[in-house]
Amino acid sequence: MPEQLPEALDVIAVGAHPDDVEIACGGTLASLVRQGYRIGIVDLTDGEPTPRSPGPEVRLAEAAEAAGILGIQERITLELPNRRLFDGFDERVALAKVFRRFRPKIVLGIGGKTPLASPDHWQAMQITDAAVFYSRLTKWDEKFDNLPVHTISKLVWYPLALKSLSMPENSGAFVMDISETFDVKLESIRAYRTQFPPEKERVFDMVRGINGFFGAGAGFKYGEVFLSSTTIGTNDLVRTVLPPVGPVDPK
Ligand SMILES: [Zn+2]
Repeated sequence: MPEQLPEALDVIAVGAHPDDVEIACGGTLASLVRQGYRIGIVDLTDGEPTPRSPGPEVRLAEAAEAAGILGIQERITLELPNRRLFDGFDERVALAKVFRRFRPKIVLGIGGKTPLASPDHWQAMQITDAAVFYSRLTKWDEKFDNLPVHTISKLVWYPLALKSLSMPENSGAFVMDISETFDVKLESIRAYRTQFPPEKERVFDMVRGINGFFGAGAGFKYGEVFLSSTTIGTNDLVRTVLPPVGPVDPK
């Protein structure tokens, strides 16, 4: 009996650890939800162990709380190992199975290295890129629990490095206006109380500064930067380079 598939998602954002997605693109996800899209987050690991957390249950509860603040429809935590996450066949298949099950049109994945932070992030980028491809491979059904193939239309990267200006080569950068959801984003990051106690308040200053800087360049109060992995086309140049000011009308 083929598995009953859940309702499809429009966008899935993939992180290595709970809080990666919130830090880099929480404002965008909250905006997409307000615009009527169905959004999911996949954490490749549960992020444990970490120095300040009492255990995985607490971290999972924080992740669930953050997801509720953003208003997203699904959050999936895969059981890949934190701190020793490596791009490999099983890792790619595990993520591709999520893509086949939830059938996103767009995948958001970590873009680039994060110097002085976890090397899991770079591995997550490789796993995500590969899993987007694996999601549509035919004649390999048994490797994917016989889930139907699914072709993802676009892969967009989000830079996660807070201490680097480097971006992946040959990527087209664009900025998403998060002025309306910046406070929601901060609240979702604050849900990770074990990761961001008062002595790490500087993380919020960094996020505010980075989102303010990227937003200002595009004419927004706050913005999140994305990098298209492939060429983006448009049939409305005016709307593309001159987006409407203010919140977009719901669909
Ligand atoms: Zn991380």
